[in-house]
Amino acid sequence: MKTITQSINKAQTECNHLGIRLTDKRRNVLQLLLEAGEPLSAYDVVDRYKSSKGETLSAMSAYRMLDFLLQAQLAHKLETTNQYLACSHIACEHEHRIPQFLICDKCHNVTELGLHQRLVDELKSSISDTGFVLASQQLELHGLCNNCQTKQEKG
Ligand SMILES: [Zn+2]
Ligand SMILES: [Zn+2]
Ligand SMILES: [Zn+2]
Repeated sequence: MKTITQSINKAQTECNHLGIRLTDKRRNVLQLLLEAGEPLSAYDVVDRYKSSKGETLSAMSAYRMLDFLLQAQLAHKLETTNQYLACSHIACEHEHRIPQFLICDKCHNVTELGLHQRLVDELKSSISDTGFVLASQQLELHGLCNNCQTKQEKG
């Protein structure tokens, strides 16, 4: 497990490298997402920003900060739930793959898995055969995590 500090430092280095600015506010929002450990709506971000930083962030600014993080691939948006989460691979050295999210509908835990390009290409070609145009390549799969399955068995 990478620590939050490691992820923030790596994000800072990446942004410098890309020539984009991870301002204090953007970094704070990233930190909130990392600390939450679960997906947050933009309004959750506003609430948490207020309680942890003692500053009011307007919903509009929250969306702007989140958009920046999405562009920089430091965060992802779950289209099916309209929530945001920090990328699980910020502190990793490997290349970022197209994410696939396993979303637990019970505890809302989300696991980010990188898809192999080969798999994505196969998926894309079978989808384009139908004439359908994908809005996003990321996959969001809903279900029950390992933890919740165990709890369910116990009743
Ligand atoms: Zn990611
Ligand atoms: Zn990784
Ligand atoms: Zn669960």
